[in-house]
Amino acid sequence: MRSHLPSKKYDAVVIGAGPAGSFAARNLALRGWRTLLLEADEFPRWKVCGACLGSSGAKILDDAGLGGMLDRLGAIHLSRTEVCCHGRTTQIDGCGIRVISRSALDYALSNEAVKAGAELRYKAIARVVDAGNHDRLAKVKWIEHGEMHEVIAESVIVACGLNTSRAGVATSGRATKHSLMGLGTTTDELPDWLPKGTLRMVFARYGYVGCVQTERGGTVWAAAVQPGFLRSIASPHEACRRILVHARVEAGALPTVGWRGTPCLTRSLNPGEGRIVRVGDAAGYVEPVTGEGISWALESGSLASHVIDQALVGNRGDIAEQWAQVLKRALRVKRFRCALTAKAVRRPVVTHLFNALMARNPALGQATLRKLIGARSLGERTAR
Ligand SMILES: Cc1cc2nc3c(=O)[nH]c(=O)nc-3n(C[C@H](O)[C@H](O)[C@H](O)COP(=O)(O)OP(=O)(O)OC[C@H]3O[C@@H](n4cnc5c(N)ncnc54)[C@H](O)[C@@H]3O)c2cc1C
Repeated sequence: MRSHLPSKKYDAVVIGAGPAGSFAARNLALRGWRTLLLEADEFPRWKVCGACLGSSGAKILDDAGLGGMLDRLGAIHLSRTEVCCHGRTTQIDGCGIRVISRSALDYALSNEAVKAGAELRYKAIARVVDAGNHDRLAKVKWIEHGEMHEVIAESVIVACGLNTSRAGVATSGRATKHSLMGLGTTTDELPDWLPKGTLRMVFARYGYVGCVQTERGGTVWAAAVQPGFLRSIASPHEACRRILVHARVEAGALPTVGWRGTPCLTRSLNPGEGRIVRVGDAAGYVEPVTGEGISWALESGSLASHVIDQALVGNRGDIAEQWAQVLKRALRVKRFRCALTAKAVRRPVVTHLFNALMARNPALGQATLRKLIGARSLGERTAR
């Protein structure tokens, strides 16, 4: 393997072109900083995700002047969310959520980063070899087409999602004790009980399964399940089928093939060190029950790019210290609410109580549910 030395210098190197990385790279490039975006895959690519962009994520895009992008990509307006557990279905209409396949969204965002002036390399598996400090710049290496490359950077954004160990930066945030694992697949089939604009979320003791039609005309299935449960069954399809059956929901349309998994989803917070900041899933978050992952990726990418911009302007190297404070402030409430929801939905006693609440006081039950899933507008009803 040949090595290309001496190293080129960048103001910012971003590892991972998911929503967090591409959005951060775009912001920095727009500010005129020399930005390199390194992505291990080749886009467009599919990834395990429920493909629902919350209203806060859509607003972040709007505020950044990318509001037209979702319409251009054909993102669907979610008109109804069905929440199923223990044989009961609760419906909420009009939640402000957009459905967009990750292959389309991530590709479009990475193209926006390039349009803004960032240099993008696909198939570049990068790792940080030196986090840098106040006096020393950071160093990043990557392999592209079998060749090793190396650059030095004033700042590094690690935006490589849950597979943080791949980026080789110290240790990633540890998986928390009760963390679930993600599963997902897509199919061209459209179940007749799943019209366009409807999201179905099914909750049971061992996890939850969601499905929705995407703008591409297929169905995306995403699930979060207990690792022990998955290990005991050893089949993602069977694990999801059992969750549907347990919740007394039709399981016939569940795809049998194409399932992919993720590492544990809930991780302790890890802001970064030296000149490295971690954003999106790489910074640590909780499982996606409230559908905020993409929005948080965009928000953290935006916040981090601001911190780095300020540090570059002031010629300061204490980037991770600054970021740790901003991250803590930004996540305090979000993380608590998300963790609470994630814990609550996997306790049968809570879902029973919720069903009882729905029977006695549907308005209060609906309001609670809207808060938990981040739904915005109203006009809901309950069905058996
Ligand atoms: C089952 C499931 C369902 C979900 N459903 C939803 C939902 O409906 N709505 C929602 O908002 N969120 C959802 N999420 C969460 C959402 O997918 C994530 O929060 C979001 O993708 C995080 O974005 P990111 O940019 O941080 O990381 P990612 O989207 O994971 O992007 C990371 C990128 O980094 C690249 N990369 C990794 N390592 C390297 C390396 N060493 N070098 C270069 N590149 C690298 C990867 O190839 C990838 O492209 C779901 C998650 C799961 C698991």
